[in-house]
Amino acid sequence: MSGSNNKTGFATRAIHHGYDPLEHNGALVPPVYQTATFAFPTVEYGAACFAGEQAGYFYSRISNPTLALLEQRMASLEGGEAGLALASGMGAITATLWTLLRPGDEVLVGRTLYGCTFAFLHHGIGEFGVKVRHVDMSDLHAVAAAISDKTRVIYFETPANPNMHMTDIGAVAKLAHAHDISVVVDNTYCTPYLQRPLELGADLVVHSATKYLSGHGDITAGLVVGRKALVDRIRLEGLKDMTGAVMSPHDAALLMRGMKTLTLRMERHCSNAQAIAEYLQQQPEVELINYPGLPGFAQYELAQRQMRLPGGMIAFELKGGISAGRRFMNALQLFSRAVSLGDAESLAQHPASMTHSSYTPEERAQYGISEGLVRLSVGLEDIDDLLADIQQALKACA
Ligand SMILES: *Cc1c(COP(=O)(O)O)cnc(C)c1O
Repeated sequence: MSGSNNKTGFATRAIHHGYDPLEHNGALVPPVYQTATFAFPTVEYGAACFAGEQAGYFYSRISNPTLALLEQRMASLEGGEAGLALASGMGAITATLWTLLRPGDEVLVGRTLYGCTFAFLHHGIGEFGVKVRHVDMSDLHAVAAAISDKTRVIYFETPANPNMHMTDIGAVAKLAHAHDISVVVDNTYCTPYLQRPLELGADLVVHSATKYLSGHGDITAGLVVGRKALVDRIRLEGLKDMTGAVMSPHDAALLMRGMKTLTLRMERHCSNAQAIAEYLQQQPEVELINYPGLPGFAQYELAQRQMRLPGGMIAFELKGGISAGRRFMNALQLFSRAVSLGDAESLAQHPASMTHSSYTPEERAQYGISEGLVRLSVGLEDIDDLLADIQQALKACA
């Protein structure tokens, strides 16, 4: 019997869910099934597996016991029926959307999106007969007006990468379900510790587990969670046949190791980010700051309602726009100038020249990414050291 069930607390499930050492020779840490294929006792058994009549493992692009444990654990943390592990966040997003959308369908997406998600929509699936429509998800009238009889999916990030604009998940889900539309939420910025979209009405959650979930910047990984029937379809269509973006068993083990400390890490990311946001807000050099934990944040009330804590990501802009932002970035000594996020190390990046450089300047303006925006992923270091680095970098760029 496993020491954890869905009634135990979040931190307990992040460590124990789905695994009993006594069923595995006492191994405290789950074994890694580093195998591509599985032997069948008889040809009839193999045939039943392939026909879907017999639950069993037969090939690791479809399922593997190490990934199955990760998937079950993640489903428990998100409050969903089933999970699916993939090679990257983009693997999770593309496998999901290739499964749900067909030529002639429309997908409604948020104004601001992760750069490669935007590129996939406009230069990938958008060129195969799927119509992509952007809408300001904070304006429910605009969402309602954009829905047509061809809309199959509503997709958004909240808070959005990189500008932190938020969407009311419950309100959009209610609207979508009145029209039989599936709601897919990218929950990378929050992780299920801070926000659980399925409990608020979303149909599927997708993640870049490269970020906070693994937490150590040493793997790329993706996850999908939702109702079993839907997740099964994504496994057999989007993963098995359309992308082949399978996670390696070794990466699944590293991801589960990272997830054991998710609650501790998220608490520290959030308290460090809160202190930095409060500091930045008081500096005369700062033109604007978007952080859900500041009472002056435009969607502060929604953040309080929808998220347990305001997260570890900050978007801000210095007076003097892009050149001040670049001087600030180049002066940083403890923060690394790097894309990605959610690592123990604090990271700073400039979306217009890095993550969102696949947009044209006009697209960035249209989709809410100003040229001078700087994005911080606040890490787990001592807050005094982080504040000192920001202070000296502000001084250096003045
Ligand atoms: C990083 C990221 C992705 C893509 O994930 P990969 O693991 O890099 O493929 C998708 N969405 C968001 C919000 C991200 O930050």
